[in-house]
Amino acid sequence: MKSAGISDIGLHRKRNEDSFFIDEDQGIFIVCDGMGGHKGGDVASQLAVQTIRDHLHFTQGEDIVPLLCQSVQAANTAINTMGGRVDALREMGTTATIAIIRDKEMTVAHVGDSSLYLFHAGILTRITRAHTLAEQMAADGFLSDGNRPNSGYSHILTRAVGIEPVINVDIYQLGIANGDQVLLCSDGLTDMMTDEQIGKVMAISGGPELKARLLVDAALANGGFDNVTVLVVSV
Ligand code: CA
Repeated sequence: MKSAGISDIGLHRKRNEDSFFIDEDQGIFIVCDGMGGHKGGDVASQLAVQTIRDHLHFTQGEDIVPLLCQSVQAANTAINTMGGRVDALREMGTTATIAIIRDKEMTVAHVGDSSLYLFHAGILTRITRAHTLAEQMAADGFLSDGNRPNSGYSHILTRAVGIEPVINVDIYQLGIANGDQVLLCSDGLTDMMTDEQIGKVMAISGGPELKARLLVDAALANGGFDNVTVLVVSV
């Protein structure tokens, strides 16, 4: 397994509120995109990454899913508590997208509008579903698929880590094969590139470092309106 991560402030923001974490030996990959307040965004995403990684210590044969949910819940409590105590950090929150890759299986925990994609046999598939009002309205039949990306509702989160005392975490489990690639990213990438454009970069030959670089550069070339974080894993 090889991996590479890049986080870029982008061309318009004053702070980088994204955080990421890589542990190839344990197969742990995390992307968090923070929000809220003057300093809240970067505090929330850093606190989430730190709390989650501190909780993820696997022993042989252990069930990953409960441990993963507990780690996100612990991050939720830490952010919610600090946000309630410190005025400047009030209502801070963060997305959290976590992939655990081990023994030809990937377990994903997901809250918010960061994304995880699987690139398998030349085809890019978005695995996670964004917790945005636009996605919720589309699911409820109020918004057609075609209108979703341009909708004003696409940046309103329906779920984020740290906002409420308890967090509901989406879990995905899927098989993974040699030659597969996994992409975790913040919306600073997906707002700037279509899935088709991302797929074309994933299809070229080259390692995770090259692909992460090309994806970040493309997001910047397309406007770089937000912080952009890209984490590529080659299995
Ligand atoms: Ca963002």
